[in-house]
Amino acid sequence: MTAASDTVAALLRTSALPPLEARILLGHALGWRRTELIMRADQPLDAERVALWRELEARRLAGEPVAQLVGAREFYGLEFDVTPHVLIPRPETELLVETALEAVAGCARPRILDLGTGTGAIAVAIASARPDASVWAVDRSVEALQVATRNATRLVDAGRPGGALSLLQGNWYAALDPSLRFDAIVSNPPYIASDDPHLEQGDLRFEPRGALTDEADGLSAIREIVADAPAWLAAGGVLWVEHGYDQAAAVRELMSARGFQSVRSERDLAGIERISGGERANPSVHINA
Ligand code: GLN
Repeated sequence: MTAASDTVAALLRTSALPPLEARILLGHALGWRRTELIMRADQPLDAERVALWRELEARRLAGEPVAQLVGAREFYGLEFDVTPHVLIPRPETELLVETALEAVAGCARPRILDLGTGTGAIAVAIASARPDASVWAVDRSVEALQVATRNATRLVDAGRPGGALSLLQGNWYAALDPSLRFDAIVSNPPYIASDDPHLEQGDLRFEPRGALTDEADGLSAIREIVADAPAWLAAGGVLWVEHGYDQAAAVRELMSARGFQSVRSERDLAGIERISGGERANPSVHINA
């Protein structure tokens, strides 16, 4: 094929990729926006750019996620850096952000904790929607925390009233100052059971296994988060976690058994109960007669 025939129109026409993915990857290879792909569809392309496109196309055809190939994914209207060290933000996780924001809507200068932050998507989205909120984000993965730090630095205004994000490396609550109490704790933990065949399919094959599965029944991370949450919640504080499509009843049961009140689940846009949450019970009042 001669270089002269390599145009956006020709490359898109002959690509084996779904059209949307082909446009995203070609735009990335060329450094062009969607509108440029349309306006310059018949312009002869630089051979180096075409070679880059062919490499991206081949890697995508071999299964690599688009978000990793372009190094970015949009979440809650913000563009997050993505690497193979972090879970790719999913649209259904925006429900967790929205629900947490509703929970603290009446709370001035709320304190919010995101456990297992990965890209930082949840924490950063909350911080940008509530400039007065103080937000902590924890991950046990050093590599994930580097990605979250980059995203937080780029997307969260350090001069906002709630200040910069506090990013900490550690297992769940382990790295937090014991005097902290939160108005909301949110988490999208690894909740896929270790024997779930989905781990061997699609994008999941390329994402960090530790962000996807607990290497157990899928509920062990949620059990740990729920068990310790009351100690870290302020009076009236809420815990909301994302979970698998068939885990809502089990997660509600864990929360109720731990003494959470007003326990409920919310459905994602696909109609699936995708997140569950509850309010910390008031500490029992001891009256000394
Ligand atoms: N929602 C992801 C998936 O099923 C899993 C994310 C997670 O385990 N937290 O692809």
